[in-house]
Amino acid sequence: MTANDEKMSYPEHYYPGAEELKPDEMRITALGTGRPFLRRSQANASWLIELGNGDKFVFDFGFGSQMNFTALGIPYGDITAWFATHLHTDHVGDFGQVWVGSWTGGRLKPLEMFGPSGPEPKYGFKHFCEKQMESYAWDTDTRVGALPAVGAEVNVHEFNYAETGPVYEHNGVTISSFPAVHQYGGPVSLRLDWNGLSFVYSGDTTPSQFFIDNAQDADVVVHETFNTVEQLMERSGYDERSARAIGTFVHSAPEEAAVVLREVNPRLAVVFHFLNDFDTAQEIYDKIRLHYKGPLSLATDFMIINVTPDIVITRMAEVTDHAWPNKSKHEDFGKAERKPMMKMADWLLKAQLFPKVPSDRGLVNKGEE
Ligand SMILES: [Zn+2]
Ligand SMILES: [Zn+2]
Repeated sequence: MTANDEKMSYPEHYYPGAEELKPDEMRITALGTGRPFLRRSQANASWLIELGNGDKFVFDFGFGSQMNFTALGIPYGDITAWFATHLHTDHVGDFGQVWVGSWTGGRLKPLEMFGPSGPEPKYGFKHFCEKQMESYAWDTDTRVGALPAVGAEVNVHEFNYAETGPVYEHNGVTISSFPAVHQYGGPVSLRLDWNGLSFVYSGDTTPSQFFIDNAQDADVVVHETFNTVEQLMERSGYDERSARAIGTFVHSAPEEAAVVLREVNPRLAVVFHFLNDFDTAQEIYDKIRLHYKGPLSLATDFMIINVTPDIVITRMAEVTDHAWPNKSKHEDFGKAERKPMMKMADWLLKAQLFPKVPSDRGLVNKGEE
């Protein structure tokens, strides 16, 4: 089969659950591509990477992104590990949803979560996870009696943000971290290598030599860019000082991200982290084209990228807004161990109009046991 034949064999749209990955194939899904505030068309940063060996990874889990994850119909327990690039809310804001949403949705194993340290412990991923979980004490302690107790467990793997090198090596997959240059120490970019294919994700960074050095030879490179300074002033109402600080110092201006993409020269370059609309995209595209002439996609949520040794194609997913969690692996959910339920105070119990008593079928109304 020629590369063109292979391309033609993909349906025009991606329908979740309808396409088996080939053993040598990687599929990347944009779960969140926008800016720190939520809007319906673009959640905060998140990328799903599915591999032909069955592994699935999520890089970042910004606010709203997990709504898009659910729409893909993937069992929550199928995610091998979650990775955070840094601790801005638009990259980790859905922690609670990843944790508890996946638990109520059927996950029957601990979460495996990876993220960078910081210059001080309080700026590190471990601290973030512990405090997030601690703040949800009421949530977790009330759920462990009704839901499989193992779902509350999180294995936190914090790695050194300042080092370049592998932070995960398993099942033929290597995920490496290298420093991102974004406001303060702590942020990283991530590179995934598997079976001769590679995916590099910037997280948030201003253009840097780190990225050029570590993204070399990658198949797919997702690099952040921001709306132009003019767009930020006109459409977001920022003064010029704020627009320049956010659009060119904190983040990568399109024409500067373009220089990085040119130096890296991937099979496909993807930009994200800006409001991608019919009346903003062209200006961003034109600025990137000043310096980068290779294959380019401007990401929006539910963009799908299939990668094999021969082809790279982009499509959009067709999803429902009314997805329920995938229940194909729920058989063991009912059998899994619970902890004793929390005991409500008598004065609350007494107020029940329909008091429940234990029976073979679980809790039932008195007289129906
Ligand atoms: Zn950030
Ligand atoms: Zn961000």
